[in-house]
Amino acid sequence: MNVDDIVAERIEQARRRMAADRWRRAELAAARERGLQARHAAKLKRPEERAATPWPSLYEYALAHRCPACRAPIGTPCTAPRKQAAAARRNGLRCELGLAPCDTRNEEMHAARHDIGRRHYRRDVGNAPWPEGRIPGQRYDSLDGAA
Ligand SMILES: [Zn+2]
Repeated sequence: MNVDDIVAERIEQARRRMAADRWRRAELAAARERGLQARHAAKLKRPEERAATPWPSLYEYALAHRCPACRAPIGTPCTAPRKQAAAARRNGLRCELGLAPCDTRNEEMHAARHDIGRRHYRRDVGNAPWPEGRIPGQRYDSLDGAA
């Protein structure tokens, strides 16, 4: 076996390795494409996303009411030191681990206020037209005149 044979063998090994890599990448790309198509089809099945009606978040609904637990006025977050401390502890740990902090606004709010906001949201959804009859982009919430 001379040097030319060894070089030819190495070139052949490299060619086979490149072909295997190309085939693996093509398999992964095909699987990714199938997943994206399935996700897109599932999204189109949900009528609320098809209608693209912008509903405020449940946090905004809850914030539009006075808190029955801590009596925080409309538009201001709850005064809940233990909830806030727990959220700060968790975000401090995430910060130490190099992770981005979580949005903890919801967990710093009292459950009773969440319940009021959720009832308000359900009332608005009940009063709005069926998803098929909604005009995309139009708001059907009543947060501006909420009390
Ligand atoms: Zn509160």
